[in-house]
Amino acid sequence: MDLKYTSLILFKRDIGEVNRIYSLYTLEEGKIQAVGRGVRKPNAKLAGNIEPLTHVEVYVSKKKGLGNITGAIVLNNFSSVKADFLAISRVFWALSHFDKLIVGQEKDVQVFELLLEYMEAMEKLSLEGRAEYKMDIVTLGFLFKLAESLGYKVIVEYCARCFGKILAGNDNFFGAECGGALCSCCAKMERKKVKNSDTSIKLMRIFLKNKIRSFSKIEVSEHDLRELKLIWKELVDWV
Ligand SMILES: [Zn+2]
Repeated sequence: MDLKYTSLILFKRDIGEVNRIYSLYTLEEGKIQAVGRGVRKPNAKLAGNIEPLTHVEVYVSKKKGLGNITGAIVLNNFSSVKADFLAISRVFWALSHFDKLIVGQEKDVQVFELLLEYMEAMEKLSLEGRAEYKMDIVTLGFLFKLAESLGYKVIVEYCARCFGKILAGNDNFFGAECGGALCSCCAKMERKKVKNSDTSIKLMRIFLKNKIRSFSKIEVSEHDLRELKLIWKELVDWV
């Protein structure tokens, strides 16, 4: 019997002469792997429907071990992202973090919806030919929301160490071990920390309170993006 999964194809890897292993994030079971038999043969019809970054309904026949993909119906091809180097490089960067953060096979509807919302936002930005920094902000926003969904919500409303106020204009930091913003006093006692300006704190607050599709309206400078990327790196390294 074939199992039906609604999924986003994440990655593919060649095995043997003509086969591939695919990583999928599914609505029904979270992250799974399945084999595409014969997909590297010329004229293999299935291959085109299960390219990475495709939203598909996929059929998997499973007896033991990894199942075999027997068919796929494309729901959204995200063709604009796939043809856009700026978009695709950011999406694969985000997916590499997604893949590291999601361990084990577990159904998570919220994560699935976030992933699709992210892909839809990137497709829209790409179709509209929007600037690179817009793609960066949407990508970072997605990752901070993903971390929240997985139980790593960053504390940005107050100091994560003393629970005191984070005063604007002060020399504030971010400490992944404490799980969020550090006031200037607490920062002196933390060994591992990165700079956390008022703008970064504001951006993280926006990410946690709003939908991904609204992030493209945010205006940021190169400097803000760089700082936010460092904060993300600090968080993901700790996780
Ligand atoms: Zn503090």
